Amino acid sequence: MQAKITNFWEWQQHFSDEKTCLEAIIKQRWPEGFCCPRCNHNKGWLLKTRHVFECSDCHHHTSITAGTLFHNTKLPLVKWFWCIYWLSSDKGSISALRLTKLIGVSWVTAQRMLRKLRVTMGDQNSLYKLTGTIELDDAFVGGKHKGKRSRGAEGKTAILVACESNNGKPGFVAMKAVPNVDKENVRTFAQESIEPGQTLNTDAFRALNVLTEEHHHIAKVTPPEAVDEWLPWVHIVISNFKSYLLGTYHGVSGQYMQEYLDEFCYRLNRRFWEEQTPNRLLRICIDHKPVFLKPVVC
Ligand SMILES: [Zn+2]
Repeated sequence: MQAKITNFWEWQQHFSDEKTCLEAIIKQRWPEGFCCPRCNHNKGWLLKTRHVFECSDCHHHTSITAGTLFHNTKLPLVKWFWCIYWLSSDKGSISALRLTKLIGVSWVTAQRMLRKLRVTMGDQNSLYKLTGTIELDDAFVGGKHKGKRSRGAEGKTAILVACESNNGKPGFVAMKAVPNVDKENVRTFAQESIEPGQTLNTDAFRALNVLTEEHHHIAKVTPPEAVDEWLPWVHIVISNFKSYLLGTYHGVSGQYMQEYLDEFCYRLNRRFWEEQTPNRLLRICIDHKPVFLKPVVC
């Protein structure tokens, strides 16, 4: 899309004004150059304050952001582009509160921007399926008290986590918030995120036995002190996710848990291409259909 950008200094120097941001979108949406959809004329001018391209022949206005994630936005694109960098490049992520201070938007606007970006990340995650040997486990996250499975889990959200473990190294990860850890939810999670016929290692929790339907399922009952040897990577992922929730968001309600999982997973699965991640997310946002959110419930 543009010269290689490896840090925020370069990113904000490059995307420093509305015109540059609009040109980046135009270049991706109309790689052969802009062409008026009404008269096919290929010359016109940018009305940058309105995100519109005006045809110099018939004067038809074409919205540059319509049909993308930035559809109908009243915000300068520079704010979106910088937010994309912070959200995708730093594993600590960025909270709505911090975003309000950095780009001068209200908390509600910041939260809406982040939610739209997380939905986009989740849609991208859903295009891939895990393969090979995979560790799968459940956990309870969020809320204020420690606890696993049913007991002591009030206020917490159940999640299912799968992590590839190939040649002793962690690979791609899938994560899903579920109303509870039962057979149906485990089956759906596996179908959505894992190719059929893989090798799945679990801790033999009863609801996970459904995995034998489509996979080579190895269920091992392990004492608590040995469980990290049997399922090392999935437990590290769960532990890192809990740290991320506490560190960046200071606790999260169950209502939006999937969006936080999507964001965490998106970055985690791209950790080997960290420098390219902001650019990739920007491209995905331009290609993504508009996201319409319900109002935030505080
Ligand atoms: Zn025209």
